[in-house]
This record gives sequence, structure tokens and C-alpha cells, in this order.
Amino acid sequence: MPEAMVASSASEATRGGTIQQVDVAVVGAGFAGLYLLHRLRKAGFTSVVLEEAADVGGTWYWNRYPGARCDIQTIDYSYTFDPELERAWQWSEKYATQPEILRYLGFVTDRYDLRRDIRFGTKVTAATWEHAADRWLLTTDHGASVSCRYYIMATGCLSAPKPPEIDGVKDFKGEVYFTGRWPHEEIKLAGKRVAVIGTGSSGIQSIPMIAEQAAHLTVFQRTPNFALPAHNGPPPADRMALLEGDRAGYREQARMSLAGVPWPQQMSVSWQLSDAERRERFEKAWAAGDLVYILTQLWADQGVDVDGNSLLADLIREKIRTIVKDPETAAALSPHDHPFGAKRPCLDTNYYTTYNRPNVTLVNLRQEPITGITASGIKTGKRGFDVDVIVFATGFDAMTGAIMAVHPITGRGGKSLSDVWANGPQTYLGLTVAGFPNLFMITGPGSPSVLSNMAVSIEQHVDWTVDRLMAMREAGYTTMEATDTAQAGWARHMADCSTLTLHRLANTWYTGANVPGKAWGVMPYTGGVGPYRTICDEIVSRGMLGFRLTGPNVAEQCNDGEVVRLQPDVRLVLNMLADMNLPPIESFGAQGARDFVAQFNAARPAGRPVGEVVDGTLAGADGPLPYRLYRPATPGPHPIVVYFHGGGWVLGDEQSDDPFCRDMCRRTGMSFVSVGYRHAPEHRFPTAAEDGYAATRWIAEHAAELGGKPGPVMVAGWSAGGNIAAVTCQLARDRGGPQISGQLLVCPVTDCTFDRPSYHENATGYFLTRSLMYWFWDLYCSPADRTDPRVSPLRGKLENLPPALVATCEFDPLRDEGVAYAQAMAAAGVPVEQLNARGHFHSSLTMVDVVITGVAARVQMANALRRFAGLPPERKEGDEGVRPRSDRLAA
Ligand SMILES: Cc1cc2nc3c(=O)[nH]c(=O)nc-3n(C[C@H](O)[C@H](O)[C@H](O)COP(=O)(O)OP(=O)(O)OC[C@H]3O[C@@H](n4cnc5c(N)ncnc54)[C@H](O)[C@@H]3O)c2cc1C
Repeated sequence: MPEAMVASSASEATRGGTIQQVDVAVVGAGFAGLYLLHRLRKAGFTSVVLEEAADVGGTWYWNRYPGARCDIQTIDYSYTFDPELERAWQWSEKYATQPEILRYLGFVTDRYDLRRDIRFGTKVTAATWEHAADRWLLTTDHGASVSCRYYIMATGCLSAPKPPEIDGVKDFKGEVYFTGRWPHEEIKLAGKRVAVIGTGSSGIQSIPMIAEQAAHLTVFQRTPNFALPAHNGPPPADRMALLEGDRAGYREQARMSLAGVPWPQQMSVSWQLSDAERRERFEKAWAAGDLVYILTQLWADQGVDVDGNSLLADLIREKIRTIVKDPETAAALSPHDHPFGAKRPCLDTNYYTTYNRPNVTLVNLRQEPITGITASGIKTGKRGFDVDVIVFATGFDAMTGAIMAVHPITGRGGKSLSDVWANGPQTYLGLTVAGFPNLFMITGPGSPSVLSNMAVSIEQHVDWTVDRLMAMREAGYTTMEATDTAQAGWARHMADCSTLTLHRLANTWYTGANVPGKAWGVMPYTGGVGPYRTICDEIVSRGMLGFRLTGPNVAEQCNDGEVVRLQPDVRLVLNMLADMNLPPIESFGAQGARDFVAQFNAARPAGRPVGEVVDGTLAGADGPLPYRLYRPATPGPHPIVVYFHGGGWVLGDEQSDDPFCRDMCRRTGMSFVSVGYRHAPEHRFPTAAEDGYAATRWIAEHAAELGGKPGPVMVAGWSAGGNIAAVTCQLARDRGGPQISGQLLVCPVTDCTFDRPSYHENATGYFLTRSLMYWFWDLYCSPADRTDPRVSPLRGKLENLPPALVATCEFDPLRDEGVAYAQAMAAAGVPVEQLNARGHFHSSLTMVDVVITGVAARVQMANALRRFAGLPPERKEGDEGVRPRSDRLAA
């Protein structure tokens, strides 16, 4: 039955007493609420928008402070749902001012005749799910309550200003203003002594304007922020040309991009660029005046790697020192407590130069915290400042503030949202919450929201939500609710995404750290706008995965599950490979497959620098074999790891795992000798195993020549290389040496049966397929030989082997035989550490700088190797993981 008929017939907005009945109630009349109303109406839903303010605009209604502008270029920060609308409005500036954006939103409101369904001056104070009716009841502070089937919170991520945490505000006799609630009438600051507290975006935008008017401006700064010049002016001709040249293509690129602005993905990483090249790129970005450009276009690792990031942060700090004349002020303005981009950087107009003005003073609250506000001004631990005006630019209770301010929101079974979120927001997609049917949050916590061009994210959320409501109506469903499984899976995926970026290393409003007592956690989705959109679409194409749908005359539908089980970067890699639609590797033949792998490897990022790379020749089982030695930059001699590359005994060579060897060499401080053992089908079983053993023996005997420590060596290998490393340990034990002090087996082949569950579960879709493994086995080893421990080490004697770390990946056909080998060795008394990499595939851990979520596993591997060598674990500050909370500096 159509929803419009299920709902009580929609009434006109009934004021006072009675309850207003609608299909959908929307809270908020900003960018999101306005577009929602337009779409809902077109879809035939009866709707009302409830808005606390006296008019439309949301953010742009409230934030009228001097200098308020957007910081995403306005041609991108616009609605795109209607090409006619796009043609009907021209922006005058690259970054429009608040009055112009507010005029635009008014224009949109009038164009679609939206005001007639908006109740202004109406704050929603509480919401209750009425189970018997399957409807929400919203209580308001003005006029009728609202009963609705669907309750959509378009309440804004940055709409609940954070109250000042300073005693005595009420005692102050002068004027007090909040940037987030700036008065509508003109505020005269000329000739006055003004204090601004806070140097976030609003502070940085308003300070230069206030300084121009005030007799004296004192800025109270707790945490400096990175700011870049906006270089405002008319919309840039090059961007306009791109937009006008192919409007639909430009908008589509934005929708599939990481941040909602159409810039291509940057591929070069910092260490591939010289100092001069990096500086040139930086100067270009500084001159461009574009946040998304500098955040995405300089070098690919600046947002994910501490070292790559600090190269950029240093260049910005250098700029601050050049612009600000007083070195002490420049130092105070230079951020050191967070990576660039981990806290929202700001775009400014004359911000740093403002501190060269004689009428501006910066007070560094790190050195002299505010102790209170008095009748005449502000007191710090060291002095007092008499002022006439205090401006609080202290930001927002971001992302959750406006949602939680509707209190209580009572869901199924009387559950209150504030209880459910006591330890931080839990959502499915940032849109819905388990236990709260038919509640939707536009750009809620858990969606890209504030890490994106919000106009793009808002349109995506609105479209997805309204499309779902229409589909439900069509099918006769009246409730939609996220499942616990899906929500827990989303939390895991969110956490996986945030280990990729550096946001976790900063205390910011993204993490709730700016609000005392707020649970700490990266609230926006850090996986990017395009990937997020594809996930939302995948949920639909997989039968509303993770949602329970019910209706009066239809059977309940619940296709439960987690939408993303892969690590986010693994998902991107596998999607990219799927898009290439490659024929099976085995169909190329051995040489063709080798050429393919060489081509594939050439396209990956070059490995990071190590002290020295030396190519040489060693004695194999039956003649010379090539090797490549990776030596650390530190003085030797170093412990030696003999390394065997992957490739199914058929593909690869001593250079093919180059990035992995470099990475492990850097992390362990050890020399890696990658061995070019012979391959099948030219050299079948047991050639690879015997070459591996002979090479290990030769390397152990020539350790000193190789710059290594004499004594035991270690062995390591990935895939078939892991097989050779495992076999080498057994042969070394049985043949009287060489001495091996540890083995690192990464996704090793250990057995010749193909009936373990991982061979079925991961048979296809994860690059290494079951049929490719069959092919490798066939080329290397005849069925009669396969149970020989020199190819199936799991069948060998496992006592008295060197300590091992066995790494396996969840989505690898070889997973279960790796686990079996680890368990069997442990049962035989071998000290074994097992690493099960969740969400990874066979190649994940060796795809250095492509699969960044593999870093934690490589840190664990490096620590294991160091332990095998009798060395303490090495902690490298940087990409290897999250620092403990106590290490983080306060915001
Ligand atoms: C100064 C500033 C500059 C910004 N610049 C950019 C930018 O350049 N690019 C960008 O992408 N984003 C920017 N943002 C983020 C901005 O908030 C979003 O881009 C966008 O405007 C959000 O729209 P919205 O409709 O989701 O929420 P809002 O615009 O915040 O609207 C929410 C509305 O809900 C109302 N509301 C909330 N709770 C209730 C309730 N209980 N009852 C009734 N009404 C309620 C509020 O009064 C408000 O009007 C900026 C934010 C600020 C503060």
C-alpha cells in the first residue's frame, strides 16, 4: 500500500494543540533540509520542515560574523541536482561571502516554493518512536507536535555552538558575541578594544576584519591552526572552463572523488620527488589558494604518512615565519601538535599579516591560560586585559551536538539515543542507527560529511534516503532499521579507514576532543566521498544489506551482514583490478604471466630508500643464482634475513618484491638478501626448494662479505617464497645447518590439499584464485611428489624448527593452510606467533604504500624478526599505528 495512504492523510500545518500528521518530518532548513523538502515533495510525500531559525540558510543564517565565507570554491559548493538552477545562478567570487550564500539559499527556496512547508521559529525538543503506530512523534517548543512515518534530521554538523568553558562570562560588562550566533544588526567595533577567543576557522576568518576596525585586538589562542591564503577573487577561469566545458562530467568526477571536489588522484609519493620538486609543488599550491588542492595534489603520502606530512607542514611553518615579523609570535602561530590536515586547515585572507599590525596582540594560552572573565575583561595566569568586546570563536559541538540536543530521542523499546551513544556515535553509514527505525541523519557521524565538500555529501545522502523511501513505498514496507551486525561492521570499517589517515593523531572537533567529556573517536568517515557512495549503492544492489524492512502486508525482509569486510585500501585495489577485467593470469602462459607481473610491478610505487642496494651472484644448488641485497642506512654489521619472493614457483625474481624488502629492511634495521631461485616449468620440483636451501647456506657462509653479522641467519618469504623459507628451515635442521634463528612466513603455501574452507570461500575475486593455484602446482610439481615435505612442509617433521611468525590473510585461499602450519608447529613445541590479517588478501602485506592498512602487520613482522635476532623491538614514530591516548597533545 502506498505510504501516503498508510499515513493519516496529511494535514495543513496545524498550529497549537493538535498533532500535525505528515509522511516525513525534516528538522533543519539549511542546505540539506531545503533539498530534502524539494525531493520529498517531488516524490509525493507529505512533508514539513521544522526550523529553529526565523528563515532558511542553516549555517549561513547563523554565521554572520565579519569575514564569514565558504572555504570550498563556491562553484563546487553549490547544488547540482538541477542544471537549470545551475544556469540560473552565477557566483561572484571564488569563495562567496556569507551574505551571498544566504541569498543563494533564499533564491533556491523561492525557486522551488519551499517556504510554505517550513515552520520557522520551531525547535524540535524531543522525539519518540511510537511502536504501535510505527511512527515518530516530535515535540516542539512552538506549535503543534508532529507525527511522522519518517524522521529526518538535517540538523547540521556545525550548528550547535560550543558554550565557553570559562568562568565569569556573565560578569563581563561589555559586549559578548559568538561567531556561530552573530547578531543580524551591524556590530560597531570601531574604536573599541576587542578580544577574540579561539583561532579555528571562524576566528581566522574574522580576526583580520576585526583588526581593521578595532582600536586594539587581542587574540587568545590555545591551539594554532594551519591556514593558507585564499587568494579570493572571481571564480578562477581554469576551473570555470572545466565546469562549463563538461558540467555533467565535472559534477560526476566530484561525486566519485575523495573530498567531493574534482581533482585527480595524486600518485607521486614524497620520497620520489626531490626537495626542489616538492618546493615547486608547494609554492604552486600556496599560490592556488585551495584547501582541497593542497590536501590532495602535492604528494600522495601527505595525508597518510607522518614523514610525508611533516615535509609539507615544515614548508607551511616556513611561510608563517616569513610572513610574521615577530619571531615569538610566528612560533606561537606555528602548529606542531597535529599533522597538517588532521585538523581542518583554514583558508584566510591576510590572517598571518594581521599579526604585524601594531593594534594586534597574540596571547598564547599554552603559556598563560585564561583564569577567568571579569567585569572589565579577561584574566590569564600572568596578566589582565581590559576590553570592551569579547568575541567567542570557540567552535561547535560538532557532528553530534545538534542531534543530541533533541533530547530524548527515544527509539525501539524505550532506548534513548544519548545512552546508545554514551561512548561515541554508533551508526550504520552515518545515516541510520540500529534500534531507531525510520530515523535518518543527513551527513551524520560515520559519513564523509565534514571531511568533504558538504554540498556533494548532502545531495548524496538526500538522494539515497528519498530513493529508499520511494522504494519502500513501492514495495509496501513502512519501516526500515539498521541491524546490529551491520552497525558493528560499519564501526569496524570506520576504524579501519581511520587507521589509514592521520586524523587519529590529532585532538580536534573531528574527534570530539574540543568538548569536555565527549567520547573520543574519529567521527567522520575518512574513506572518501566516492568510495562511500559506492558502498551506499552496493547496499541497495545487495538487497538492502544490513537493513530490516517491515510493512503491514508484506513479509519482513532482512538481508543481514556487513557491507565492507575488506580493508578500505584492499577494497580499492580489488575494485580497480576488477574494473580492468583482466583475463585469468594462467591464460597468458608462463612467459606471458611473467611479463604481466613485471608490467604490474612497474606501475606500483617505487620502494623507499634504504642504505644501499647491491646486486650479486651466489651459488645455488646447481650453479649461480642472482641476488639483491638491501642494506640499512645504519652502520653494520647487520643481522641477515634471506628472503624468497612470491610467484607460485613460476613468476617473479629477486627484484619483484622490492618495495617489501626495502620496507622490511628499514623497519628491522637488518640486511635482506632476496634470492633469484629458479622457476617452473623450466625447473620443476624440487629445484626451488633446493635453490632456497643452497642460497641460505651460501649467504650464512658469506655473511661477513655481505656486511652482515656472522652467526645464524633468518629466513623470510611470501607465498611460494614462504613455502621455500619453511622448507629451508626443515632442510637446515636435517642437513646440519646453516643455523637459522627465525622464520617469517607470509601467506605461505604449506600443503597440497585444496579442501580447506579458505580455498572455497576465497576461490575467486581476491586476485590469487583457486584455479591460479592449481596452475602453479601443476607447473611446479607432479601429483606424485606433492606430499614431499620439500613442497608440503606441513607434511614434514615439525619439531626443533626455528621460532616463527606466520602471517595469514582473511581473504586468501592459502589462509587455512598457513594457520594449520602455525598450529602444527606450535603443537610440535616451536615458538610460533600467528598474525591473522583481517580484511586483507593474498598480496596485501607486500603491497607497500598501496595497501597502507598492512603497515601494522609489517610492524609486527619486523618486531618478530628483531626478536629472532635478539634485538629489542624498534618503535618508529610515524606510520606504524596509533599513539596511545596519553601521548596525544591536548587541543
Ligand atoms: C562558518 C562555516 C563555514 C563553512 N564553510 C563550508 C564550506 O566552505 N564548505 C563546506 O562543505 N562546508 C562548510 N561548512 C559546513 C556547513 O555546515 C555545511 O556546508 C552545510 O551548510 C550544512 O548544511 P546542513 O543543512 O546540513 O546543516 P546547517 O546548515 O547547519 O542547518 C541545520 C539547521 O538545523 C536547524 N536545527 C538544528 N537543530 C534543530 C532543532 N532541534 N529544531 C529545529 N531546528 C534545528 C539549525 O537551526 C540549522 O538551521 C561551514 C560551516 C561553517 C560553520
